[in-house]
Amino acid sequence: MKELKCDLHIVGGALTGLLTAYCTSKLKYKIIISEKKKIISSPKKAISDKRTTAIAEGSKTFLESQGLWQHIKFFAEPIKNIKVIDNTAKSKLFFSNPNENSNLGYIVNNSKLIEILTTLLKKKKNISIIEGADISSIKSNSSKILTFSKNEQIRSDMIIAADGRNSAVRKILRTNVFKKYYNEKALVINFYHEKPHKNIAYEFFFKTGPLAILPMQNHNNNFQSALIWSNSPETVDMISSTKLQKKYITEILNEKIQQYLGKVTYVNSVQTFPLSAHINEKFYHDRTVYIGDAAHSIHPIAGQGWNLGLRDIKSLTSILKKSKDKETEIGTKKFCKTYNDLCFYDAYRLFEITDKLDWIFKKDQLHLKFAKKLGFNIINKNKTIKSRIVNFAMGI
Ligand SMILES: Cc1cc2nc3c(=O)[nH]c(=O)nc-3n(C[C@H](O)[C@H](O)[C@H](O)COP(=O)(O)OP(=O)(O)OC[C@H]3O[C@@H](n4cnc5c(N)ncnc54)[C@H](O)[C@@H]3O)c2cc1C
Repeated sequence: MKELKCDLHIVGGALTGLLTAYCTSKLKYKIIISEKKKIISSPKKAISDKRTTAIAEGSKTFLESQGLWQHIKFFAEPIKNIKVIDNTAKSKLFFSNPNENSNLGYIVNNSKLIEILTTLLKKKKNISIIEGADISSIKSNSSKILTFSKNEQIRSDMIIAADGRNSAVRKILRTNVFKKYYNEKALVINFYHEKPHKNIAYEFFFKTGPLAILPMQNHNNNFQSALIWSNSPETVDMISSTKLQKKYITEILNEKIQQYLGKVTYVNSVQTFPLSAHINEKFYHDRTVYIGDAAHSIHPIAGQGWNLGLRDIKSLTSILKKSKDKETEIGTKKFCKTYNDLCFYDAYRLFEITDKLDWIFKKDQLHLKFAKKLGFNIINKNKTIKSRIVNFAMGI
């Protein structure tokens, strides 16, 4: 068994783990990323995710400060306006950004983000990536933490657990978690359509769940968008089943989107995701911090999950920088608790907001329909509330 040493051991090399490595590598820490999948030797197979991520303006500013946006911007489609249509209460809202130098958000392919990050990380001398790693146990003492997997033992000052919503680190360390299972699945379809999207994102609220249409970059001169539709597992499984040919998916999509984007001309990809949300009781354990989906996951209704993870990365990078400048020890209880105190409330708040949004928009009882209609009218007439919502969506 190989024995390896580093300052930061990042477990999980997807969007959160890779970005954490990139941001913290600038502080000259020696970093090891252990990832289960073969993201370097077999990237096409390992990164099969066809999803897009809506990156908020605030997240873009952080990525810019890290010198990353210059690589991402060529693949990012701006969201200039958002139209919200509540079908249960027959109300509409229109959001735009008054500032010409920024956008409400940007749509980028997840696989592109991972490709950019791995390409940049491969050039860094203080980072090693171990593929096919699956940690089976963890031991810590007052100054170090050790992880054991089949082929290696890694000794570090601290673990950064970025291993997703079913975090193995969390299970091994027995950190408690509050989990909520929605009886919903998300259907994610990337498709070409007849008319340009004009950089408008649509959010429709139906009794069965929300449906978002997000503007993607043109592909081979085709107008392209992504649809994310939360619905009952039965409906999603029926639509996505191979028995139902793409022709029928096209018909169902046309019914929903034709008046906005023209007819669907081609269905590129169809994926489904069971929906759940969770929040860890705390975002740290012995010499370990949880980050991104390993700490929290939320309903995708507002497209904010990774943006929240990115704020964790921003906080962790800033604490690590302070420790480096002051030459203080990292991974201590004080260190981990400082991180927890910076990130926990933000995640808890968003967990609650997205949960309640999903709940209220599915309701069609008369009094709730009336409350929603009233709410939409108030927002439509009140510029201050509207700009607060815009700032929330932009993450600023
Ligand atoms: C339908 C849908 C749409 C979404 N849209 C948006 C959006 O528009 N905007 C947004 O901000 N967020 C969005 N999200 C949320 C976003 O996708 C997640 O927050 C983000 O992908 C989490 O990334 P992560 O790296 O933290 O976790 P993951 O992507 O789960 O990565 C965890 C990594 O850890 C690895 N791993 C697991 N176990 C081990 C182990 N034992 N050892 C080593 N490695 C391990 C896995 O292989 C994986 O690579 C959406 C989510 C869904 C479901």
